[in-house]
Amino acid sequence: MDLCVIGTGYVGLVTGACFAEMGNEVWCVDVDAAKIEGLKAGKLPIYEPGLDEIVVRNYREGRLRFTTDLGEAMAECDVLFIAVGTPPLEDGSADLQHVLTVARDIGRRLTRYSVIVDKSTVPVGTAERVRRAIQAELDARGVSIPFDVVSNPEFLKEGAAVEDFMRPDRIIVGTDSEAARERMAELYAPFNRSHQRVIHMGVRDAEMTKYAANAMLATKISFMNEIAALCERYGVDVENVRLGIGSDQRIGYHFIYPGCGYGGSCFPKDVKALIAMAQAAGVEPEVLTAVEERNAKQKRVLEEKIVARFGEDLTGRTFGVWGLAFKPGTDDMREAPSIPLIEGLLGRGAKVLAYDPVAMDNARSVFPSAWFEQDRLAFTRHQYDALEGADAMVLVTEWKPFRHPDFAAIKRLLKTPLIFDGRNQYDPQQLERLGIAYVGIGRANAL
Ligand code: NAD
Repeated sequence: MDLCVIGTGYVGLVTGACFAEMGNEVWCVDVDAAKIEGLKAGKLPIYEPGLDEIVVRNYREGRLRFTTDLGEAMAECDVLFIAVGTPPLEDGSADLQHVLTVARDIGRRLTRYSVIVDKSTVPVGTAERVRRAIQAELDARGVSIPFDVVSNPEFLKEGAAVEDFMRPDRIIVGTDSEAARERMAELYAPFNRSHQRVIHMGVRDAEMTKYAANAMLATKISFMNEIAALCERYGVDVENVRLGIGSDQRIGYHFIYPGCGYGGSCFPKDVKALIAMAQAAGVEPEVLTAVEERNAKQKRVLEEKIVARFGEDLTGRTFGVWGLAFKPGTDDMREAPSIPLIEGLLGRGAKVLAYDPVAMDNARSVFPSAWFEQDRLAFTRHQYDALEGADAMVLVTEWKPFRHPDFAAIKRLLKTPLIFDGRNQYDPQQLERLGIAYVGIGRANAL
């Protein structure tokens, strides 16, 4: 099939590359000319395991093409994916300006029956707004061209995006049109070989499904973080509680890890957007508000533990931070818990040495350049360099090379052997035996 994916970010590029990998002819379109030029030169704008290879190969073999010119792409395609960003507005609701801009651009260029697919995460009712925006342009042109708008939200996880796209748990297709349904079923057939993964539903049902899924996952995390806070007060190790409750099949082990808060481009903004949707509909979002508040608190938990140990004024102290990305496997720094932590530590006069396997380039633009120039914040070449002479190590992102580190080296490098473990990766008893003080999240010995 001939496809066009508009927006070449985490979702758009993975979608385009994976559909091309399945043999489709795909145009990837973006307004960011530098991104498109980079892609043509084989330079990926994001880090995502396995993505490089399929982008470069499919581009070379001609199935994947890149352009800033939507008209050029639409000349050959009749299934058009909208995969642009939907960041939060001031009031928390999703900003649809990019989605609606694309809809109008499509309306100005449509020449034949096409299926327009909302892949961006958008509030209930957006497909209808996209339909109206396209129709308005067709009316302005004085032409009558049939088209359908489908909701096909994306569930990939950054850090495992290619794998998730290729082997999805489910594919949600929301449409009331039989023709669009058939096109989507045909497109996704190669992803259904072992069993049927496509779930067909109404457009609005599909739009809500995406928000409900992310809000549910965020709720599990915030719930567990609240239990962790309780565990600390009652001398309980939350890791044992996690194992104990996860064994109940109704609960399960997924997504019940306590930590220093969830980040990323999706959970924070989607919970906010769902809160805004609830308020607009006159429904009090009691659970969702609590989920958000707990997460905001959780992002300050490591700083609080450091202050409890070293005092409010951290002047003259140095902290070695392992992990900057909001989670392992990605270079995405959006809403990463490392940001408020580092800002907080520097605000209290401390110096921070930090290391991340892939996110340091992105992280450099997150923090004021003066901090680097004044040597208050430095990114190191190796994870162990971040610990040299530091008062403590702080684990923020559980990248694999951090999970089983050389504790003897850690002890030797730190000024005081002390680890703040924001992801409960280490065994407190083992560290105690090694003579390293340990502070986790919700563990009996937490400060
Ligand atoms: P992103 O910011 O990485 O990429 C968006 C891209 O769209 C950018 O390259 C931007 O230049 C481009 N763009 C903006 N306006 C455009 C226009 N008018 N025409 C063409 N291109 C345009 O965003 P993302 O993380 O890929 O997210 C995209 C959508 O998918 C969001 O709604 C998000 O909530 C959703 N989503 C994201 C993830 C994820 O893990 N990142 C997962 C599922 C769903």
